[in-house]
Amino acid sequence: MPPDNFLMQASGVNAGYGTMRVLWGVDLDIRPGETVLLLGANGAGKTTFLKTLVGLIEAREGAITLAGQDVTKMRSSDRMKLGMTYMSELAVFPDLSIEENLRVGAQALGHANPGARAEELYGIFPVLRDKRRAPASSLSGGQRKMLGIAKALAAEPKLLVMDEPSAGLSPLFVKEVLRVLSDLQKRGLSLLIAEQNIGFLEVATRVSVLEGGRIRFSGTVAEMTDNEALRRAYFGLK
Ligand code: ATP
Repeated sequence: MPPDNFLMQASGVNAGYGTMRVLWGVDLDIRPGETVLLLGANGAGKTTFLKTLVGLIEAREGAITLAGQDVTKMRSSDRMKLGMTYMSELAVFPDLSIEENLRVGAQALGHANPGARAEELYGIFPVLRDKRRAPASSLSGGQRKMLGIAKALAAEPKLLVMDEPSAGLSPLFVKEVLRVLSDLQKRGLSLLIAEQNIGFLEVATRVSVLEGGRIRFSGTVAEMTDNEALRRAYFGLK
């Protein structure tokens, strides 16, 4: 694909709740194979933006394209069929086994061979293979997060959209999530990750900073660290 052929492009996105406007003309794009980190403090509007992208909240203004198609008014399930999956822990079914969760994830988009897909995923998430027959409710918080990621991947998306994958995880598990994300990058998956944890800069190819519902900065990680104000705000350095 030529470099200007975006996998996902959001331009001028406005969204909110009732009379409250949260997003103000947000632009963000992702090229195939990129990992874009959306950094922002609590309440900056990260979750609202991700939900607008995947179609869980309506964009009041602006446009969103996915693989060249305008999806601004498209239902969330149809956006998934075009290859954009939203990872949320709530999507894990606690009463189903790990393997059943993965099969449900694969079947959601009509994967031809859910069993084989589950096997592939155990290669990336060995901890899940050991517990494949156990109910998801028996997993620790970190393991459940892994299952959430694996289940979102089961349908083989092109773009995985993740909201705060580090939330509630111990530093050790955050490291494990970063290892998994870097493995997925090598397999060519595109990622959009909303985070407050700057540790995720380690896997980012580009970063956008959201403040008060507006994009304050967009560029490479090196450009971000060159920006004195951002460096002070996010790295606590002078
Ligand atoms: P966090 O890390 O705390 O989730 P965030 O950057 O994801 O922060 P959002 O969750 O998008 O931010 O919230 C942005 C603003 O929208 C906040 O002021 C929040 O209180 C408000 N908000 C979020 N969800 C709703 C809702 N369902 N109804 C009304 N206001 C909401």
